[in-house]
Amino acid sequence: MSRILIIEDEESIADLEKDYLELSDFTVEVCADGESGLKAALEKDFDLVILDLMLPGMDGFEVCRQLRENKDIPVLMVSAKKDDIDKIRGLGLGADDYITKPFSPSELVARVKAHLARYERLVGSGVKPNDVIEIRGLRIDKTARRVTIDGAEKNFTTKEFDLLAFLAENPNHVFSKEELFRKIWNMDSVGDIATVTVHIKKIREKIEADTSNPQYIETIWGVGYRFRV
Ligand code: CA
Repeated sequence: MSRILIIEDEESIADLEKDYLELSDFTVEVCADGESGLKAALEKDFDLVILDLMLPGMDGFEVCRQLRENKDIPVLMVSAKKDDIDKIRGLGLGADDYITKPFSPSELVARVKAHLARYERLVGSGVKPNDVIEIRGLRIDKTARRVTIDGAEKNFTTKEFDLLAFLAENPNHVFSKEELFRKIWNMDSVGDIATVTVHIKKIREKIEADTSNPQYIETIWGVGYRFRV
């Protein structure tokens, strides 16, 4: 029997979620704030977490971030505002799904079941979930080596992919062209660092809406490049 943790400060919503999940034979525990919810999620053995975004004290963003550092169980985030969903996606926190209030309890139960089934398949098959970076509509699947922007897949060469993935894995860190060249092209020689500039240009053409005003990879004049989060 699957165990579900609900982290929700509104008692009426928590009760409703709990009732419906229990009717579907889940074992449910409720925590009413972020701190106790995170503690329970880390210390106990839950199969899925339903996480409200607006919580007293530690909010859902922070709970999700800290939970993800330690566990890869499915996290279903709940928010009252549609804007928050974009923010959750933008932060790349690794939430598995998002649901906006008000939602129907049966929809919640259906989502919970779908995520548990998917997770059990992954765990049972020994296949690890894909290693994915998601930032503001840009999705870099490092396992499948695929890049999508707002759901549309873009074709990347090996080096373009390696360069983008490396920068995205090290957000807000400024790298010089020399550093990037050594890192991605695996050479200690001085080489032709102009290659880096050319690749950055090609990557921007694929992922930026406006290449003259890049939202992902910024040029830091006289220094190098930085992936902005
Ligand atoms: Ca709340």
